[in-house]
Formats: sequence, C-alpha cells, structure tokens
Amino acid sequence: MSDSEYSLPLPPNQKHSMTTNRTFTMIKPDAVVAGNSGAIIKMIEEAGFRIVAIKKTQLTTDRAGQFYAVHSERPFYNDLRTYMSSGSIIPMILEKDNAVADFRKLIGATNPAQAEEGTIRKLYAKSIEANAIHGSDSDENAQIEGSFFFAGTDEF
Ligand code: ATP
Ligand code: MG
Repeated sequence: MSDSEYSLPLPPNQKHSMTTNRTFTMIKPDAVVAGNSGAIIKMIEEAGFRIVAIKKTQLTTDRAGQFYAVHSERPFYNDLRTYMSSGSIIPMILEKDNAVADFRKLIGATNPAQAEEGTIRKLYAKSIEANAIHGSDSDENAQIEGSFFFAGTDEF
C-alpha cells in the first residue's frame, strides 16, 4: 500500500467537497411496511447520492405534526399525522451535487398518478398521501429536517 492510501480523518468542516451539498429524505410507512425500502435505497445510491446518516424509527402523531407543521391548516393535516406515525420510517441525510433539486426529480410528483415514469413515487407510492418517500424542498429545509432526526449524533 502506498503512503497516499493512508489518510487521517479530516475535521468535520473539511470532510466533504465544496461542490456537494445535502438533502434530507425519509422512506415513509407505506414503503417500509411493503418491504420496498431496500429497492428505494438502491435507486437513491444508483442515482449518485451518498448516505451520510440513516436510521429506522417511528414518529408519534405529535412529532409527525411538528415535521409537517407547514401543512397544519391543510384539510389533509390530521390524516397525514396519523399516516406518518402509523409505522416505521427510515430518515436519511444524503449528499450529492445539486442534492435538493436532483432528489426531488428522482422522487417525482407528490401524486403518483402525475409522477414521471421511472421515479420512486411512480414505482412505489400507493396514493397522494401514502407516497413512499419525502424529499426536502430547499437547502434551508434540508438542514432543519436533517437536524430534526439526527442532531447530536455522530453521523451528522
Ligand atoms: P414531501 O414534503 O413529503 O416530500 P411533497 O413536497 O411532494 O411531499 P407536500 O405538498 O409538501 O408534498 O405534502 C406533504 C405530504 O402531505 C405529501 O407528500 C403527502 O404525503 C401529503 N399530502 C399532500 N397533499 C395531499 C392531499 N391532497 N391529500 C392527502 N395527502 C396529501
Ligand atoms: Mg413537501
């Protein structure tokens, strides 16, 4: 092995290239219970995203409501809280160039009936509510949502 193959860990703020950035996702209860999380993670990795942090957990209805607080005035809010706390979810922080926009493209439209062929929601979502996966809609929300699940952990 040559010297160049040995490297010391970099300080956290130098760990990642300046050209990459992060998004946050979670595989939702419908996809986890259907046994589709492995296939979904494979699609995510094959699309060039690197998994920075991952775990399996379950939200309470209150925590699910907090996560989707932006939708608290929408008619579907209560159903959404119930659905999102109905089973296990798999939250992840992902890294890639242009991560937020590229990931939204990979997952497809909210309503699977309108999602493009080959997107995760087209392949795996059951309905507009039980739509398999979440993706942050801005760099700022990616940061907030990643912290919601991973603040204080080694990976983050
Ligand atoms: P997400 O934020 O989960 O990535 P999104 O950004 O595509 O989804 P939002 O408008 O933020 O869509 O809605 C959040 C979630 O609320 C949706 O993913 C879906 O689970 C649920 N939802 C949205 N619209 C409806 C609706 N009309 N009826 C039922 N559930 C809905
Ligand atoms: Mg959204």
